[in-house]
Amino acid sequence: MNIILLGPPGAGKGTQSAGLVERHSMRQLSTGDMLRAAVKGGTPVGLKAKAVMDRGELVSDEIVSELIDANLAAMDKGEGAIFDGYPRTAAQAEDLDRILAKHGRSLDHVIELGVDVDALVERITGRFSCAKCGALYHDTANPPSKEGVCDVCGSTEFKRRPDDNEETVRTRMDEYRAKTAPILPGYEARGIVTRVDGMAGIEEVATAIDAILA
Ligand code: AMP
Repeated sequence: MNIILLGPPGAGKGTQSAGLVERHSMRQLSTGDMLRAAVKGGTPVGLKAKAVMDRGELVSDEIVSELIDANLAAMDKGEGAIFDGYPRTAAQAEDLDRILAKHGRSLDHVIELGVDVDALVERITGRFSCAKCGALYHDTANPPSKEGVCDVCGSTEFKRRPDDNEETVRTRMDEYRAKTAPILPGYEARGIVTRVDGMAGIEEVATAIDAILA
């Protein structure tokens, strides 16, 4: 099974991917996570990408498609892939078809997380994660059950993404509207798109996604 989770920043792609990884032992392929790891590691890709990411703009198609290709090459054929934050442009959508074919895979579903754009800024600026295990939280919608302690690993260290500030979020929304949303009709024409209400609670969205994959 190969699926794309599509939606603007803050729609819940990362949260739902993490749930799918647990429930269906699929692999999450998040180009955002890969790029953040490259920035942290100071690799040539990271050095190129950092300023672009800080502005909320899109990194080049070539860089992200190469990351996806390399990650798919390292996976077992039978292991399902969740594309989270990729593809984000028409060129990336074409690259993905080519890369999937090269690895003997094809696209099963595109799940569009529909959201109320006005609510997204609040969603994004409130989110943080455990600095140790990466578990995702939100100040109001999904805080740890004991304040200041990670539910998953017990760590007391948390972090926020540098690009989760209001100004950058607005640029990321504009990028989504201008470059990513236009790739949906192509997938719709192939009959593989299902829209899920991304404003519903985390569990409810997960149930809706599971129903699509069943
Ligand atoms: P994300 O974690 O998916 O919100 O991505 C964070 C940032 O990484 C984005 O704002 C872009 O700068 C960059 N990025 C992630 N995925 C892509 C992609 N598929 N194409 C271009 N840039 C990307």
